[in-house]
Amino acid sequence: MNDDRRRRLLALADRLGTPCFVYFLDEARARIAAVRQAFGGAFAITYAIKANPAPALLRGLRDAVDGMDVSSGGELARALAAGCPAAAIHFTGPGKRTAELAAAVAAGVGAVVLESREEAAVLADLARAAGVRQRVLVRIAPDRVPAGFGDTMSGKPVAFGIDEEDVPAFLADLRRRPELALAGFHAYSGTQCLKPDAIAANWAIFARVFAAAADAAGTSPEQLVLGAGLGLAYHDDQRPLDLAEVARHAAPVLADLRARFPRAQLALETGRYLVGDAGAYLLRVLRTKDSRGVRIGICDGGFHHHLAAAGMFGMVLKRNFRLANVSVADGPAAGTFQLSGPLCTSLDVLGRAVPLPRLQQGDVIAIAASGAYGPTASPTGFLSHPPAGEWLVDGDQIVDARA
Ligand SMILES: *Cc1c(COP(=O)(O)O)cnc(C)c1O
Repeated sequence: MNDDRRRRLLALADRLGTPCFVYFLDEARARIAAVRQAFGGAFAITYAIKANPAPALLRGLRDAVDGMDVSSGGELARALAAGCPAAAIHFTGPGKRTAELAAAVAAGVGAVVLESREEAAVLADLARAAGVRQRVLVRIAPDRVPAGFGDTMSGKPVAFGIDEEDVPAFLADLRRRPELALAGFHAYSGTQCLKPDAIAANWAIFARVFAAAADAAGTSPEQLVLGAGLGLAYHDDQRPLDLAEVARHAAPVLADLRARFPRAQLALETGRYLVGDAGAYLLRVLRTKDSRGVRIGICDGGFHHHLAAAGMFGMVLKRNFRLANVSVADGPAAGTFQLSGPLCTSLDVLGRAVPLPRLQQGDVIAIAASGAYGPTASPTGFLSHPPAGEWLVDGDQIVDARA
């Protein structure tokens, strides 16, 4: 971490109190612009808000993205409250309840992404009752995911979408439902991929299933949504994804998609990659102790705020997130330390054998890549500690991100 960043994080911890998350709006917006630019504007960029649904962040990102992907009635309400136009909202998720679907129809969402036959039937009834034709996308679960995806949601029995082999029958059923207007297709097979060639290979699989589905539907789609799967470098031994490399590997696939579907809008749906690196989790060391040869810093925050940093969210191997003691300048390690949280379970460890130049009571620890899947993906009720602060830093303005 460079020294300016370190001082800035320390100042924020002193000013805002710990434990807290800080999200740098300019960095998230710059990331969105970088993704847009890397693919030469070929993609509309949609933000899957489950990665971080903090209201102030959503307001700050609203104009930077082309749409938001929501996965619950609660997320739908947040996207609308943030000022995202209903027509730019897509509603995905395998278990949408009837009341949530009704709210989406009433709001006029741009598309409901269908994930089962029964859901199509319920949605058609709701649309008929509301007197509208609801635009829908069909989510397709390809029969394979390229090697190298961290977390996969296809190529095996899954709750998500329609298996590609069942798509023709699903579309035949859909044709009997005039209340639903087929606008295109959607695929999201996996995420946290750091291999440019695997990301492009995954999109090639999407292109293949989209083409087969369009043939089966006998219509030309208006919109094709590609779940991006772009990963973050969470750990010291990982290299950040090189977007130019992704674009280079994906160029033939994008050219094929353009040629095959000249009318379709291509949308890249992504969450963590847009916001993850723009956030840090700031903790203070409450107590230090030595236990059987290990020096431990017990911090004021833990996995109740940040399950992922403790290795319990979508991670097979427990590995440390990148972290630093921002109370001291970077320098040679004085030793390796364990950083624990305050929870009464041995699972509450945020770092093992972390080399740090110092570890003292009162020091501030910053955990990087914490802008996605933080509090929203953590068991915040555990042990009844207060929630972490969440702050949106926008230039020299700081606002409560939760408001
Ligand atoms: C979770 C999810 C995303 C975002 O995933 P990231 O790993 O945050 O990029 C996108 N689309 C769908 C359908 C999802 O469920």
